[in-house]
Amino acid sequence: MALDTETFDALIATVRRFVADRLRPLEAQVEADDAVPEAIVDEMRALGLFGLSIAPEYGGLGLTMSEEARVAIEFGRTTPAFRSAFGTNVGIGSQGLVIAGSAEQKEVWLPKIASGDIITSFALTEPDVGSDSGSVATRAIRNGDVYRLSGTKRYITNADRADLFTVMARTGEEKGGRGVSAFLVPRDLPGVTIGTPEKKMGQKGAKVADVMFDEVPVPLANRLGAEGDGFRIAMQVLDRGRLHIAAVCVGVAERLIADAVAYATSRRQFGKPIAEHQLIQAMIADSKTEALAARALVLDTAVRKDAGDDVILESAAAKYFASEMVGRVADRAVQILGGAGYIADYGVERLYRDVRLFRIYEGTSQIQQLIIARETLKRGE
Ligand SMILES: Cc1cc2nc3c(=O)[nH]c(=O)nc-3n(C[C@H](O)[C@H](O)[C@H](O)COP(=O)(O)OP(=O)(O)OC[C@H]3O[C@@H](n4cnc5c(N)ncnc54)[C@H](O)[C@@H]3O)c2cc1C
Repeated sequence: MALDTETFDALIATVRRFVADRLRPLEAQVEADDAVPEAIVDEMRALGLFGLSIAPEYGGLGLTMSEEARVAIEFGRTTPAFRSAFGTNVGIGSQGLVIAGSAEQKEVWLPKIASGDIITSFALTEPDVGSDSGSVATRAIRNGDVYRLSGTKRYITNADRADLFTVMARTGEEKGGRGVSAFLVPRDLPGVTIGTPEKKMGQKGAKVADVMFDEVPVPLANRLGAEGDGFRIAMQVLDRGRLHIAAVCVGVAERLIADAVAYATSRRQFGKPIAEHQLIQAMIADSKTEALAARALVLDTAVRKDAGDDVILESAAAKYFASEMVGRVADRAVQILGGAGYIADYGVERLYRDVRLFRIYEGTSQIQQLIIARETLKRGE
């Protein structure tokens, strides 16, 4: 159920203040340290950010998708690593449990996820399995009430801090997605090892690492849904996750436009602010138009999702358009700042690198295109 307008407006105002006053001043530090300060993570816990999407009965705020998208847009206005600190708990790390968990599983885990006492990760990708995610090779072999889980998961966000993994593993002989099941795997089970975090292009402060499972004894009680449900669960999780990422892209684009406009109005060349040169104005106009279009698509899709509509196509379209859009907006922002756009003292250079990821994870742009085409052909319009 949606929050009343007053409560939601107060939440947005609080988030906006938190982003502007607490997070933005720390952006350069997060980049340099490749870490979000623990004190900030504590403040996020106190604000209830880890439980945005989790029902109030489990201690979360129970936001609708429309509300969550608005919050995600606000977090887009700063370094994406801040959102990632709580993003897996709100999205891909918890939603398998929310969608397919039993009452008992929810009772055990959701309150701790909502409070941020534990961190969750979503483990689908493997060294040889990326876009073709139905082909997971990680195996879970059942023996009585225990599965033995073995395999390697790759590029797992927040693996370095995670206490609980949602792991997709093959349980049946059937090829493709139908042989895949989903499991809740606590990090402290014997046989779980976390790799060294990867060095990467951007989004410093948000870590990814391999997760290795060597004959890990996972209780039957930790399986999400029935055997063979895992791939379907993962895809449902990603439907929601894609919309959330699209909303973040809108926020980053709005931030980049604000930065570019501020620079263009103060920087003077040929005797006037560069904002008065029409070729600069064209870049601003293109960025603004595209950001508005992405915002409208994201919020419209969120409303439809809240109404219970099938939004597989629209979520993919929102992720595809918004992530490509923010790439173009970041490129234009660098151009508007000229040499300064290429220099690390200005946030634009950092955001330019940060946004590249949005076109790759939770399904690449090519995978979104395939989904959009498949669903359009299915609908016939
Ligand atoms: C920073 C980061 C964080 C991540 N976090 C997570 C996480 O938390 N959990 C998780 O499970 N995974 C995570 N991932 C993995 C991410 O989802 C995958 O990298 C992504 O899905 C692409 O898979 P791949 O890297 O194996 O590329 P590949 O699938 O090998 O694709 C390579 C290229 O081929 C293209 N391609 C593939 N198939 C087709 C096709 N049928 N038609 C046309 N083109 C195609 C792709 O679009 C891409 O351009 C993360 C990745 C990164 C970099």
